[in-house]
Amino acid sequence: MRSTKRSANKNAAIRTKMIAHHHFFAPMSALATERSVAIQAVLQASKVCQSVFQHLVANETLTKNDKSPVTVADFSAQAIINTYLHKAFPEDPIVGEEDSKDLRDDAGKVLREKVHSLTNGVLDDSEKLSEEQILQAIDRGNYAGGAKGRHWALDPIDGTKGFLRGGQYAVCLALIVDGQVQLGVMGTPNLPVDPAKPDGEKGTLFITVRGEGAFQRSFSNPAETKIHFADISTTEEATFCESVEAGHSSHGDAAEIAKLLGITRPAVRMDSQAKYCSISRGDGDIYLRLPTSKTYVEKIWDHASGSLLVTEAGGKVTDVNGKPLDFSIGRTLESNKGVIAANAKIFDRVLESVQKVLSSKL
Ligand code: AMP
Ligand code: MG
Repeated sequence: MRSTKRSANKNAAIRTKMIAHHHFFAPMSALATERSVAIQAVLQASKVCQSVFQHLVANETLTKNDKSPVTVADFSAQAIINTYLHKAFPEDPIVGEEDSKDLRDDAGKVLREKVHSLTNGVLDDSEKLSEEQILQAIDRGNYAGGAKGRHWALDPIDGTKGFLRGGQYAVCLALIVDGQVQLGVMGTPNLPVDPAKPDGEKGTLFITVRGEGAFQRSFSNPAETKIHFADISTTEEATFCESVEAGHSSHGDAAEIAKLLGITRPAVRMDSQAKYCSISRGDGDIYLRLPTSKTYVEKIWDHASGSLLVTEAGGKVTDVNGKPLDFSIGRTLESNKGVIAANAKIFDRVLESVQKVLSSKL
């Protein structure tokens, strides 16, 4: 990883050459620089997450209740992505899930040292950071968000439980401009590149820019393919996705809604925004996030990139009341409750059934 810059330059040369010959390789973009920086940042952070997991599993240091590997990977991923963003766009503030508080005191020393060496492992020699600079990079994610100007939203590891289970998790980055998501890049290290080959290559990147469609590529090959929702027109043919954690989305309400929609296939449960990715490429058709508590407010980093991907792939996203997700308020989706994401062709029927089931509970 010591020669990121050199290989990036080489990649850029290969890329230009291939664009000239193959239009499908990488689409031209109105946000070309943001797009390529975000891809590079998410890819490097995803690889660090993969190596933390593999290393800890290979050494059998992962015990059932040991949360430290996910914590190390989480902080390192945020430090890496914030460093890439700061270098390319020094004026852009970042809304990131983590802050450095737990790393600063004596109790955080071991964790701090691990994050330091992991982060420097992916940066060029000329870019190596001190411990203090890494803490500062993490804390660049402390922006309050809002309706004005540009900012990034980052979830360094979405689906921490999935990470620990060896299941789905996602590194999620979005660019929000004047309260509207304009770009999203997600890295899903454990999602098969080809859904038809679940045991084949894993590690998929999902990329979207507003108005430019939705794309995926593998971690290993920069060639991008356009993705879209499955070609279904009735809810009876649909499959839905939901959280593994019953505390994050009501499984009971979802089962009732599925029944109303005539859905007979079992729900596919997975952690993280990999759910948004899956339905966007047609592995499923509906993602329901049904509130389990009156007080929980969704965070913008849990939905920014995923919701744009769905919209650009031919889907629709609202909250459970049919209201568009409002990313302009701050760090949370305070004016929304839950999420419905589905193929645009069946969306209205899904919303209607969600409303029917939820209003019967009031
Ligand atoms: P998932 O992987 O879909 O289960 O979602 C993981 C995300 O759920 C985490 O990133 C948390 O931010 C979020 N979360 C935590 N508590 C709740 C809750 N009570 N309801 C909904 N989402 C939650
Ligand atoms: Mg999250």
